Amino acid sequence: MTVVGLGPMGSKMAETFLGAGFDVAVWNRTASKTEPLVARGARHAASAADGDLLVISQIGYQAMYDSLGEARLDGKVLVNLSSGTPEELRAAARWVAGRGGTLITAGIMVPPPGIGQPGAYSFYSGPKDVLDRHAATLESLGGITYVGADEGLAMMYYQSLLLIFWSSLTSQMHAMAMLRTAGVSPLEFLPFVRETFTQLGGDGVMGFATILAEEFAAGTYPGELNSLDMQLAGIGHVVHALREAGVESTVPDALRRLFERAAAEGRGHEGLGTVIESIRKP
Ligand code: NDP
Repeated sequence: MTVVGLGPMGSKMAETFLGAGFDVAVWNRTASKTEPLVARGARHAASAADGDLLVISQIGYQAMYDSLGEARLDGKVLVNLSSGTPEELRAAARWVAGRGGTLITAGIMVPPPGIGQPGAYSFYSGPKDVLDRHAATLESLGGITYVGADEGLAMMYYQSLLLIFWSSLTSQMHAMAMLRTAGVSPLEFLPFVRETFTQLGGDGVMGFATILAEEFAAGTYPGELNSLDMQLAGIGHVVHALREAGVESTVPDALRRLFERAAAEGRGHEGLGTVIESIRKP
């Protein structure tokens, strides 16, 4: 196979394939980045389109167009693990098909050191029979989670999890910054953060992620025990607390305004989950 794109991710992918005993060719826009991999046994690819299986990891999909240029792709399989928008991925699949190739899209859920390690996995979308033919190779990078034929889906799953990742960790940053102003060390607070993340992902009365998914699936958001109105007042206090502490409050205030809109739309008596109905209609 040929690994196209040798940033931190692509380089580690090429290294992992080499370690698994595959015949690996490498290509990168800045050619000098191929050298460490060639020193470990990779071949120089003659071009980005040189190979039957192209494993691509670049900054975005424009880089793939720039790298492949006018090349024909007859019979080739391109597995692109770069970030983009779902629409970009769908358009890329049509572009590749127009040149005779097949595109499998993917979103890889680990940073470079995690590639090929236990627990690593990627979301894949596109034609399943083509993915299956290359599963034994791609499994070197981590588990294969196939999410459907629609080429945009792998990225939508990937981005959905990034959204949770970024917003959860940014909330932790706000919390740690506020507590620090009262002299609380982040490590003193850490056990409570860990416990909260564990509970959120669990089952039972504190398993809020499960409750939210079930409520959204059912389309009902019972709020007798903890209404959105109550939580809107609560998040208002949090925003004021952040301001009192003299730390940044823009993001929490944006959340507060979102809650406020859901309440203004007449659903303040429902539970927090009802906010998703406002998210669905910007
Ligand atoms: P970058 O996102 O910085 O991508 C670097 C690579 O893109 C280099 O090979 C660079 O070539 C190439 N590139 C950029 N522009 C062009 C262009 N116009 N034409 C050709 N090649 C181009 O590095 P990463 O390796 O960190 O990320 C790769 C992908 O993996 C990204 O889409 C990222 O979102 C995703 N990802 C990254 C993770 C991470 O932790 N790093 C984790 C999960 C996913 P050159 O060397 O010539 O500049």
